[in-house]
Amino acid sequence: MGKATLHKSACILCYINCGIEVEVEDGLMKRVRGDKANPKSLGYICQKAGQIGRAMPMIASCG
Ligand code: SF4
Repeated sequence: MGKATLHKSACILCYINCGIEVEVEDGLMKRVRGDKANPKSLGYICQKAGQIGRAMPMIASCG
């Protein structure tokens, strides 16, 4: 089990593009949460985006 890293990005599931933080471990997306530092969404994400990590564990493409 590797060390988890956190990557900032934006949700692209709808036009609002909320700021998100993606937790990645061993190349897999483990969890998605709202980015409180994002000036537009202020940490908010809807339930759809919050389930991404659980529903679709995938190889992370973020740096
Ligand atoms: S978190 Fe929800 S509201 Fe925000 S961009 Fe993604 S789908 Fe849209």
